[in-house]
Amino acid sequence: MALEIDVITLFPAMIRAPLGESIPARIQERGLAEIRVHDLREWGLGRHSSVDDYTYGGGAGMVLRPEPVAAALAHVRRPDSTVILLDPGGERFGQARAHDLAGRTHLVFVCPRYEGVDERIRSMVDLEVSIGDYVLTGGELPALVIIDAVIRLLPGAIDAESTTEESFATGLLEYPQYTRPATFEGHPVPPILVSGDHGAVRRWRLKESLRRTLRLRPDLIADRPLTRDEARLLAEVRLEEAAAGDDDVAPG
Ligand code: SAM
Repeated sequence: MALEIDVITLFPAMIRAPLGESIPARIQERGLAEIRVHDLREWGLGRHSSVDDYTYGGGAGMVLRPEPVAAALAHVRRPDSTVILLDPGGERFGQARAHDLAGRTHLVFVCPRYEGVDERIRSMVDLEVSIGDYVLTGGELPALVIIDAVIRLLPGAIDAESTTEESFATGLLEYPQYTRPATFEGHPVPPILVSGDHGAVRRWRLKESLRRTLRLRPDLIADRPLTRDEARLLAEVRLEEAAAGDDDVAPG
């Protein structure tokens, strides 16, 4: 059964174009996801299909009126829908939420613009999601980020190994990847990767995954219980890193 997604936006082309390319396009062609994009102006008010208005109390910028958004939601919402409002103040999006959303049946994304949407719309949504602590001009790019992260996790969307071994899947960053040539600008591929010893390759990948996470995202290691093997490899990494750090210190 396909994951159904409805997106409510003032700029449908912003959503359609990126999802019409590459892997997201193939996922839809193969019937794994069905994505419909709705122009909020269809539910606009009056002769000019107006969707926004000045903010009560004064201040810069326009706010999306609640009636068009509520009417659009009434049109697409079903009992099994999860309605998501894109908002800089929402829950920070991450891989765990991507997995959670990939397991649902119907997602609805509301993409505000300008100063955002009238506060009274919040009671009509199930989740408010942010893609990070910065402010974009609208909810379209955040919706695309989330849709892309979610649909690639659908069973059959891409090679299952790619999504089980990649960054965050195991709570660690992914190990370094190499392709041809075997030597590039004097830097060879680590010999173990061409040794043909699959067990050694697996251990090397786990160790380098731990090293990378320790260097770039130590918070992930601190938050994650380690298996005995991982703890042993991490201890080796710490020793190696400490030794490399000492080497960096110029002799007095
Ligand atoms: N006045 C809002 C505030 O200070 O929080 C910012 C409004 S922003 C210019 C317009 C819309 O873009 C927001 O309502 C939201 O839908 C979307 N948006 C901007 N940054 C976002 C982020 N980091 N995550 C999710 N949505 C975002």
